[in-house]
Amino acid sequence: MKNRNGKIIVKILNIIILIITFIVLFYVIKVYNKNNFNDFVRNIEKAGITEFVRDNEIKYTDTSSYKIYSKDYNDAMFSKTIKVDKNTPYRLTCKVKTKNVVSEIDKKGIGAQISIVGSTERSVAIQGTTDEWKEIALIFNSKNREEVEIGFRLGGNDGNARGEVWFTDFRLESGIADNSTEWKFACFIFESIDVNVENKNVNLSITNSDKRDINQTIIRFQDACKELTNNKMTAKCDIYEIPEPITSLSYDEQFGYYVGPEDVESQIKDIINSNDYDHIFVVVRLGDEKHNSDIEVNDWIGLGYMDYYGIGFSNIRLPNSSTSYTYKYDVRINTFPEEVFLHEFLHSLERTLNEYNYNIPALHDYEKYGYKTENLEGLKKWYVDYMNCNIQALNQKVGLDSIVYTLKPAKSSNFKYSYIIKEFKEPENIIEYIRQLCKNITRNIKIIKGEG
Ligand SMILES: [Zn+2]
Repeated sequence: MKNRNGKIIVKILNIIILIITFIVLFYVIKVYNKNNFNDFVRNIEKAGITEFVRDNEIKYTDTSSYKIYSKDYNDAMFSKTIKVDKNTPYRLTCKVKTKNVVSEIDKKGIGAQISIVGSTERSVAIQGTTDEWKEIALIFNSKNREEVEIGFRLGGNDGNARGEVWFTDFRLESGIADNSTEWKFACFIFESIDVNVENKNVNLSITNSDKRDINQTIIRFQDACKELTNNKMTAKCDIYEIPEPITSLSYDEQFGYYVGPEDVESQIKDIINSNDYDHIFVVVRLGDEKHNSDIEVNDWIGLGYMDYYGIGFSNIRLPNSSTSYTYKYDVRINTFPEEVFLHEFLHSLERTLNEYNYNIPALHDYEKYGYKTENLEGLKKWYVDYMNCNIQALNQKVGLDSIVYTLKPAKSSNFKYSYIIKEFKEPENIIEYIRQLCKNITRNIKIIKGEG
């Protein structure tokens, strides 16, 4: 009898131990799943105010989403370094949902976004609260890089943000670069500006004569690209007259006020998204005879070296004086009115070759090589030699390598026949799950040992 009771107690104990083991295991798995960021590394600017969790409740598919919650303003992200082939377009998309995302300063580039760490390349940034899951995309060209670190981020290069964001459903594709030498330009002529600068409201419109001059100059620019490069490239310019005024300007200590990509994003995004442009010009008037000193512009008529989501972006400023011949062809005064357009476009080509680590002269270094601004045609000779790699240096010719005419920005049409890369795939079955688990454990051991 005694022996039988003992056996029952042992059995009950075994069952209790088994149940406890299951409960502990259940909680361990739950905690593991909640904190499992797989191959992602978590990064924060300020400690103690951001939480990273996997969310099994708010999710787009069966897989838990990746959540960042910043109680106060911070720049927080989880990131992963991936290998890329050089000079290849990539598109990374994901689904995103936000709740009360607020940026610390009023800049559109701050919020929930995908970005490449250490660069300005990014997707759109989402602020506020989204009712539905939204898809965002980071389109970039790897250029000279063999790896890039991709971050899913709440914050941004321009400043910090707070709020909640969920990321999920990552998808990476590589596309096929368009290496043709046919360039497509979007030229936006803004009919007016209505901005507040230094507590003053400035309201300006362009005239019909401005429009006429710019239209003719753009046609001249189109021809100049072909002729001055000896057919190394062609340009096709689409002109859009935009009636909605520009309502904000960007500021730079060196240049004063200018039109940054985010100042016109709402007016140009639909046109850019539905076409495949390789370069963007924004034509604007920032002053006239009466308003001469209202908007501080430090001695620039064109401004370049900028990009709108990877596409070259330049400002073309109409001169304040209505008697200026900057954009007017006149056989006795100015035979090269397309100079500002060409100059700013060349800044984008210069930037591209710099990013591909080519050793080229700076566009502004014409004096070093013995060129000077001439009557009627300005720096035309310099540009011709620059574009044809025909500038005489010590014992060789220098200038733009002609490969630059084939190096256009990545865009949606590059992904017509895309290839899906499994880099961001979540474990889909028990084997993949266990494999990922082993990887995570090995990595954590390495981190603890100080090797990671
Ligand atoms: Zn310049």
